[in-house]
Amino acid sequence: MQELLEKIEKRRTFAIISHPDAGKTTLTEKLLLYGGAIHLAGSVKARKSNKHAVSDWMEIEKQRGISVTSSVLQFDYAGHRVNILDTPGHQDFSEDTYRTLMAADSAVMLIDAAKGVEPQTKKLFWVCHRRKLPIFTFVNKLDRYGRNPFDLMAELEQVLGIHAYPINWPIGIDGNYKGVYDRIKKQIELFEDDNSHGSKILKSTTGSLDDPQIIEALGQELYDNLCNDIELLDLAGDEFDMTRVNNGELTPLFFGSAMTNFGVRSFLEKFLELSPQPQPRILQNGEILDPSTEEFSAFVFKIQANMNPAHRDRIAFMRICSGVFEKGMSVYHKQGGKVVKLSQPQQFLAQERTIVEKAYPGDIIGVFDPGIFGIGDSLSDEKMKVQFEDFPVFPPEIFARVQPKDSLKRKQFVKGITQLAQEGAIQVFEQKDIGIESFIVGVVGVLQLEVLEYRLINEYSAQLLMNQLAYTVARWVYAEDKKLIDNIKGLDSGMLVYDQKDRPVILVNNEWSLNWILERNPGIQFLTVPSDV
Ligand code: GDP
Repeated sequence: MQELLEKIEKRRTFAIISHPDAGKTTLTEKLLLYGGAIHLAGSVKARKSNKHAVSDWMEIEKQRGISVTSSVLQFDYAGHRVNILDTPGHQDFSEDTYRTLMAADSAVMLIDAAKGVEPQTKKLFWVCHRRKLPIFTFVNKLDRYGRNPFDLMAELEQVLGIHAYPINWPIGIDGNYKGVYDRIKKQIELFEDDNSHGSKILKSTTGSLDDPQIIEALGQELYDNLCNDIELLDLAGDEFDMTRVNNGELTPLFFGSAMTNFGVRSFLEKFLELSPQPQPRILQNGEILDPSTEEFSAFVFKIQANMNPAHRDRIAFMRICSGVFEKGMSVYHKQGGKVVKLSQPQQFLAQERTIVEKAYPGDIIGVFDPGIFGIGDSLSDEKMKVQFEDFPVFPPEIFARVQPKDSLKRKQFVKGITQLAQEGAIQVFEQKDIGIESFIVGVVGVLQLEVLEYRLINEYSAQLLMNQLAYTVARWVYAEDKKLIDNIKGLDSGMLVYDQKDRPVILVNNEWSLNWILERNPGIQFLTVPSDV
């Protein structure tokens, strides 16, 4: 028990959220660099040998330069076990991001110093805020032109409604910064260019606020500006209050530059000190499960097939919520209703996968999935048989009819579509009794359709015929009397299909059509999320 408590206390599991291009890949890499998990960060490697960032697993991500899937990376730093959940920045993959956030205990919100709060930052912030995740903010790209830090703080407050407590503060004229002042250590840290372009751990000069050498290096004007800023923050700024941070009302704010490594180490250390250890989880029956509960429990938040083209395997990623995971263990799979052995348990250390002997609450492990797990599934010690709260489901907004180009490849096609649906990469619907071999695929972002096509060709050798449909709205249909559903009236401009669990769904062009149908079909209800009733 004591051992379990100690392990929990040392763990930090978080996701980085940001708008594309804010520097998430770069920051992730730098954290790995400081954690000793890699020795040379990818920014230099990429230029020299065309190798890409370590967290980009899929070929398609490299081609498009965006992170499509969320990956998980783990490293140790100063006695802490750090689990970073990487999330795709592109909005077309936000479903994946939402699911990944279910596995995090806190979030790091990354902001480009020149751009401030961007649309995707806003969306992701609200998801974290709704879940009351503590949010830590890192303002990146301090090495080049950036906005006035007071303006950025005001923007966080106005746009996101969150107050910020700056842990450090940029020194210099707006847009031309020399370093940062650490408000906790009361120490100045100045950039020192080592010509490595951020590939190595950065050297910097530090000194106290009254160090004559530092004052000289800054010049009197910058020094006076800094003293004024600090005074203003102390007088007019928020008090640091950990309870407000934990409730998601106050965000500790850091300034730095992931590319040049500036401020990365101090951010990491302070973050590990302040961020929450693995938190209790809510069960479907409303009860709370504490991580120190001795019995093992976990939930699946991500499934990924063919991560490694050399082994056509499928991995279910789970977050451990309580107890201890031990290699070779069998657990109760709530959704499947039986005991299963978790085989080939793995953890992910930069580019390498390692077999896990033991893992603890907050840890993310991947296990071999013979095709039995689904997103949101609960696993636990047989004594507990817990079920965690449901995962959010998003109604798709883009639809396409897909069928195999070559009917001889039908089997691979069906297998690919089914597996990608289980991964949660697409939602699949079927039209009944139409006599053609096709599926209706629903997605939230159009890029998901491109990924579907790419993956079916590359992983299943199946070419597609794809026709995008004019529908934009999907609703699950509920009626006490099932016959009403079979005889729905007014569906001229819509389509009745069935999801993978054989639940009826209607697809229509717009909200107006929904009302038109509702008026003509008393006794029918439309639901934005599936209901099993
Ligand atoms: P992501 O889309 O959020 O993962 O962003 P990336 O990490 O791929 O970074 C986007 C671009 O910003 C790349 O060209 C990076 O080299 C650059 N970048 C990242 N961090 C910094 C930084 O601290 N300073 C500067 N000047 N550029 C940065």
